[in-house]
Amino acid sequence: MSEKTIFAKIIDREIPATIVYEDDRALAFRDINPGAPTHILVIPKKPIDMIENLDESDEALVGHLVVVAKKIAKDEGLTNGYRLVFNNGAEAGQSVFHIHLHLLGGRQLAWPPG
Ligand code: 5GP
Repeated sequence: MSEKTIFAKIIDREIPATIVYEDDRALAFRDINPGAPTHILVIPKKPIDMIENLDESDEALVGHLVVVAKKIAKDEGLTNGYRLVFNNGAEAGQSVFHIHLHLLGGRQLAWPPG
């Protein structure tokens, strides 16, 4: 079995994180190096390394992450908009190989991103 990612360790409470949401399928916590006033990572508890390795059976799970992000955005008061991003692979800047949905908001966000 491959080594546990940092996010798997957060799920298992082996390392601390500021958790803002949890259910049986998902966990959400504040990014340690926030790129916006609100920067939260929504992850599945199931260890999937990359979006490109998703299976068709993961369709509902990924949809669940988006619905969770939407609820958190409301709780965070992001009434003027927010961004949801999955980085996939090296050129997109993916650094943790356990898929995660970035929820960013709380300031005007530039487009396109860098
Ligand atoms: P990626 O670049 O893979 O799309 O995003 C990984 C994100 O995880 C980065 O925004 C980074 O700041 C965040 N991150 C990395 N290690 C930790 C950690 O130990 N705790 C938390 N809360 N966030 C982390």
